[in-house]
Amino acid sequence: MSADTGLPSGSVCGRDPEENGDGFSDISDSELLTLQDESDRDTNDAACVSHKNVQSSEEVVQSSGNTDEHKDTTDNIQHDEKQQISENPECSKLLQRKRKYMPTTPLQKYKMKYLCVTDLCSQMWCEQQMVYGYEIPELEQEKPPVMNAGASIHLARELELHDVVSVKTQTKEDVWAIKFLNVLSMIPILQSGGNVREFPVFRELEGVLLVGVIDELGYTSKGQLELRELKTRANPSLPGCAQSKQHNFQVSVYKILFDGMVMGLLQPEIFVQHLHLRLDQKLGPQVADHSRKVGLTVSTFGDILELICLNLRFSELPMIDCLKLEYCYQEDSSLLGCEMLNFEEQNVMDRLHFLLSYWKGGRELQGVDIEEAWKCRTCSFVEICEWRNTKAKEAIDRNQTKRGK
Ligand code: SF4
Repeated sequence: MSADTGLPSGSVCGRDPEENGDGFSDISDSELLTLQDESDRDTNDAACVSHKNVQSSEEVVQSSGNTDEHKDTTDNIQHDEKQQISENPECSKLLQRKRKYMPTTPLQKYKMKYLCVTDLCSQMWCEQQMVYGYEIPELEQEKPPVMNAGASIHLARELELHDVVSVKTQTKEDVWAIKFLNVLSMIPILQSGGNVREFPVFRELEGVLLVGVIDELGYTSKGQLELRELKTRANPSLPGCAQSKQHNFQVSVYKILFDGMVMGLLQPEIFVQHLHLRLDQKLGPQVADHSRKVGLTVSTFGDILELICLNLRFSELPMIDCLKLEYCYQEDSSLLGCEMLNFEEQNVMDRLHFLLSYWKGGRELQGVDIEEAWKCRTCSFVEICEWRNTKAKEAIDRNQTKRGK
């Protein structure tokens, strides 16, 4: 595997077109969500793009691992074969082993080793829509021009702070090493009062690895660390309530991830457990070369992982004090408005718990509530949506019952 990865000098911005599956695509998280803003259609293509990439990458990664076990479920075993198996102790043992690998949660079913914050935001919009996006992506409407317009604005802003260079990656460990190099190069800039953009964040919450990319971090005139999230809009208007809620949730989760990192909560084991990365994997020549250039003496992925965990634990980085959303118009990049957000930790954690409970198999899939049925009007899956059909039937039944009384 080989891929071009952008790295700025001084701080490193890593991207890997080939490593689609790892969620740090060419477009920042904020840009992925911006896709939902287009024409106020609010579909969740963006995060689904992120998710689908994750899925396809993991299939490659797991090609010699458990993937086959996932595909070869006992559902496919015919009755006669089942009879044979039950009578043969060896087959029976094999079956038990297979059962162990049968997907029992959506995380397993969709082969997700981690979730992007944008996945959670799409889920918040409509969980059923997000799942249809994974299962029948061909029904989704494509909106690449909007993505490109928003991505260009994000890239232009990033280039104001970083020069972007390319580094070739050869392994999945290389790709993650690049993300860690990015963080390592940004820590001293932030500590010296500077601004950084595209700051990767990771943290395990409720047993799930969450990842994201903070658009910008910098300090206010009062010296407070401020998270700034840029949202580009296709129309010259501010978003509605439902989108605002998503944006608020997104940046609040970023804060939770970032604060956990600077509190030293990032443990090397989570990358091994969730992503099956090999600590002793030698860094590819270009990644090793870049590490040397930025003054790091590292030879394996484990060396970089240890460095980032230690650096974060002993850094003097503060937690994020303020959350700010900036909306700008895609056509001319003009500022449409800014919003300072209140961080309501308990609300965010409660919502996270609810969203993650689906992924962990703790509850059934849900569509939108009746109050938000307006979202269905612009949904690509409205014609086939089981949730909507069920709710419509329930409403008819209720009306008939009322008339019968
Ligand atoms: Fe969700 Fe409505 Fe779309 Fe169904 S039709 S997936 S409930 S938005």
